[in-house]
Amino acid sequence: MKSWVIRGLRKGVLTTRFPKGDAEDVPLWTTKPVKMSDGEVRCPAGAISDGAVDMNRCISCRRCSEHYMPDGRPVHSTVNSGISIASRSFHIYMIDTGSCGACNSEVHSLHNPVYDFNRLGMFVTNTPRHADALIVVGVVSEGMEMALKAAYEAMPSPKIVIATGTCSISGGIIGKGVDGVLPADVLVPGCPPSPYAILDALIRARDAK
Ligand code: SF4
Ligand code: SF4
Repeated sequence: MKSWVIRGLRKGVLTTRFPKGDAEDVPLWTTKPVKMSDGEVRCPAGAISDGAVDMNRCISCRRCSEHYMPDGRPVHSTVNSGISIASRSFHIYMIDTGSCGACNSEVHSLHNPVYDFNRLGMFVTNTPRHADALIVVGVVSEGMEMALKAAYEAMPSPKIVIATGTCSISGGIIGKGVDGVLPADVLVPGCPPSPYAILDALIRARDAK
């Protein structure tokens, strides 16, 4: 039987206690890769330098996965200082500018009973005109650049941009990221980032002063 079913039966509820409790059942791909001990790793994304991994560039190809560390913690996002959201409830609008579908799917999972981000006063809106935060997933493809700018311009101020996943942060190995098109206030690394990492970033962005 699936572990989440057993956990749900044991707890009586399926929804995580995160951020009050620890993240549960964090999948391995959210953990940090480290350099292999037996020599240089040829990182296709150029994410390894001096033995350190730049998670904003890592595409989780797992060439250096021998020592993946199942530490159970989401990789921390970067939240720029100076952002401020005035509203108590927090509305997000997601735009897919060229994703493989995985980042998209992780953001969508925030609605499901496990993460249930509505309990934290967070909601999805179908129009940028009601959005506090713009979540961008995927590389910024030529055809979507104008739509991305239009969505940003339609949002009321104050507004923040959350680059979610390696593609939208740095362009990965195939394109360009949000940088240069829009100012990204929050960077959520991962390929894809786990829902916990995205949730953590949303909470920190909303509560930033
Ligand atoms: S892309 Fe990521 S997982 Fe692949 S070799 Fe580079 S650092 Fe390691
Ligand atoms: S960051 Fe990775 S998972 Fe997300 S859209 Fe790009 S390739 Fe897909």
